[in-house]
Amino acid sequence: MEESKKIWDVLLLGISNNISTVSYDMWFKNLEPLTIAYNKLILVANLKSAKNTINKNYRNIILDEIKKLNTYVDDYLIITPEEIPVYQTKIEDEKKEENSNYSSIFDPNFTFDKFVVGSSNQIAYAAAKAVASQPGTLHNPLFIYGGVGLGKTHIMHAIGNEILKNNKKSKILYCTTEQFVNDFIDSLKNSKDNIENIKFREKYRRVDVLMLDDIQFLSGKITSQEALFHTFNDLYQSKKQIVISSDRHPRELTFLEERLQSRFSSGLTVDISLPDLETRIAILQKKAFFKNVNLPINVVYFIAEKFDKNVRELEGALQKVIFYCQLKGQQPDNIDIIKEALKDDIDVTTHILSLDSIVDATCSYFNIKKQEVIGKKKLKQIVMARQIAIYLINDLLGVPLATIGSYFGGRDHTTIIYARDKIEELSKTDNMIATQIKDIKNMIQKK
Ligand code: ADP
Ligand code: MG
Repeated sequence: MEESKKIWDVLLLGISNNISTVSYDMWFKNLEPLTIAYNKLILVANLKSAKNTINKNYRNIILDEIKKLNTYVDDYLIITPEEIPVYQTKIEDEKKEENSNYSSIFDPNFTFDKFVVGSSNQIAYAAAKAVASQPGTLHNPLFIYGGVGLGKTHIMHAIGNEILKNNKKSKILYCTTEQFVNDFIDSLKNSKDNIENIKFREKYRRVDVLMLDDIQFLSGKITSQEALFHTFNDLYQSKKQIVISSDRHPRELTFLEERLQSRFSSGLTVDISLPDLETRIAILQKKAFFKNVNLPINVVYFIAEKFDKNVRELEGALQKVIFYCQLKGQQPDNIDIIKEALKDDIDVTTHILSLDSIVDATCSYFNIKKQEVIGKKKLKQIVMARQIAIYLINDLLGVPLATIGSYFGGRDHTTIIYARDKIEELSKTDNMIATQIKDIKNMIQKK
């Protein structure tokens, strides 16, 4: 339903309670809502005398009802059918503006199904999903905080994409806090004719969902904070969803006015922290999949181990590897080419302890091929080397068992536990094994 019609229907109900049925039938029944322009509800009256009579006798009643409604509409205007063309361009402009403001601003790559869920982000993910399925009802506002490049913007776009998928007509406004501040400053500059001011209010209050990214940019912007406070209250009271992201918890946004700080924490606050190795591996695999690139598991491990602070950098590394390999006409299928591709980003000379480096050392110690250690062969000597490698990884890296399992060709975690415990036992009773373990450890540490 048109917004103007929705609003008019509610107003009519209130008006009818305040005037006689006769006057209502005579003057109000035949008014037709046309549009909303500059915060005014435009009504068309077929009867010439209606305009004057209503303005003279009922203006205050109507304004009271408008006030009670508490939307961005703050006045009404009655026009005659001949005046409709004057508003036609405004109506068309509005439609255009609505489209440019509210639709297809969401990155199609930032959806829920392209987001990898792990222990670092599962609560934020679940909250975002809930908000997307029932905006304005469950968690309002939703406040998402976390370090740079950990997926805050991705999640916000995912909310937008999902709501639009369910309801194409939803008015969702996503913007960076900088944009909000700029819009607000623009609205002040031209406040002489008030049009900019009204535009600002219409843009930010005429939405079903408002998402403000990186709220920490409000630091030191007192008047913008004030504007946000009012916008927030308006939207909140009319049960519109608000989603905010920040690099820190609301209580650490100490530069904010206290009332704003407390508004922000009044809904649900969730954090996104650094992803663990498992999650980074899954992210790389997912990104590679969508880029149609085949990466062997040891390459994935290698990259995931080195980039552990920031998913954006992790993704950047993958992009670089793909680009480099294309340039060289090679496949990204071995660690050497990966090291070459990433030589500016990682220190390839200093040795970083990794699954690969431990397995490499074990292989060279026993003079066995890596393929065999990772593979399925059951030759006694190979099995022993495999189990020692597993034991060492567990001992030195503290990587989850499932991760070790998938590294070793998809073995399940019970196999890994078995290997670990067996070598641990042997290292206490069998001198040769104890020496071998010590030697390999030395090799790794000397590298
Ligand atoms: P932030 O806004 O927190 O700085 P972004 O949302 O811009 O971070 O994320 C940076 C990049 O990392 C994006 O390309 C995003 O797709 C990706 N990313 C972050 N977390 C995940 C995740 N859990 N799964 C998939 N991609 C992710
Ligand atoms: Mg961001």
